[in-house]
Amino acid sequence: MIRVTVWNEYEHERKIPEIGKIYPEGIHGAIKKILSSEDDMIVRYATLDEPEQGLSEGILSDTDVLIWWSHARQDDVTDENVQRVIDHVHSGMGLIALHSAHFSKVFRRLMGTPCTLSWKHGDREKLFCVNPAHPIAKDVPGCIELEDEELYGEPFAIPNPDEVVFMGWFAGGAVFRSGCTFTRGYGKIFYFQPGHEENRVYDHPDISRILINSVRWAAPVKRLASPPDNIELR
Ligand code: ZN
Repeated sequence: MIRVTVWNEYEHERKIPEIGKIYPEGIHGAIKKILSSEDDMIVRYATLDEPEQGLSEGILSDTDVLIWWSHARQDDVTDENVQRVIDHVHSGMGLIALHSAHFSKVFRRLMGTPCTLSWKHGDREKLFCVNPAHPIAKDVPGCIELEDEELYGEPFAIPNPDEVVFMGWFAGGAVFRSGCTFTRGYGKIFYFQPGHEENRVYDHPDISRILINSVRWAAPVKRLASPPDNIELR
């Protein structure tokens, strides 16, 4: 079984009534529901205001794949907890960074680059699969149309990804590397752009499929008990 933790800052859904109506169970609750229908996944969620910000050693060591959504409170995550997440990724835990998590401390430090982008509120997106042989693209159509999505555009200041699986085209005049994979230590990372809090996009069946596929892909092949260290040969 793949142990999945959906981590969400859980701020907009509680503080902005319109968004609370879109995600009454929180973004984490919506994603948990999607993944829980899979026979090979055990799913829980954790949020920023929980003890140890929902990122305790106990939670992370019991997590194969961590899904991360954050926006308004990126900087509230303590450096200690950020480092703990990074150590687990280096040890083999998978990480799926969604939408505005491009600007989370965890993602930026793992990338080592500013992770800035261009953006515009309110747009229409066509999400193209540019790597149909990739496991994350299994049973996903060549183009997914999203009537309401925030525009994220290039230049996206990330290091060159291992693979680009999806490219976004926006009616407002932008393209974006919307689905990218990276490897850091023993850990696999997938960045996925859709997921602005004002649009309930994760329930779109093709977007749900991408999330499910990405969890299976990111599950550890080898998991170390602690971050990798030098090995002395004798
Ligand atoms: Zn957004």
